Amino acid sequence: MSKKKEARKIVFESEKEMPAVPMSLGSMLYNKTGAWRNIKPVIDLSKCIKCGICWKFCPDASIDIVDDWPQINYVYCKGCGLCAEECPQKCIAMVEEEK
Ligand code: SF4
Ligand code: SF4
Repeated sequence: MSKKKEARKIVFESEKEMPAVPMSLGSMLYNKTGAWRNIKPVIDLSKCIKCGICWKFCPDASIDIVDDWPQINYVYCKGCGLCAEECPQKCIAMVEEEK
């Protein structure tokens, strides 16, 4: 019986090391996916190293870089948590939305 290979997490130090990722903004502008959200990402900028990895990984292009700092656009952020998972500084917390 063949042994199952273990998945290995790839870690990038900055967005410059990452491969180009194909993405389309077409329909994303019309689908205001922020309404789907139960939890939202909140960035502790005091720990942020401005690496841009959260921006690169966000599947909804909901993170803007403003003056080198990441800024979440809550109109589109659907609360998937990918940015928090990938942030090398672990400075993005997923917190419950207020109802
Ligand atoms: S929670 Fe998901 S959709 Fe929202 S900013 Fe992070 S990666 Fe993007
Ligand atoms: S929040 Fe995290 S992933 Fe995003 S730029 Fe700052 S350190 Fe990098």
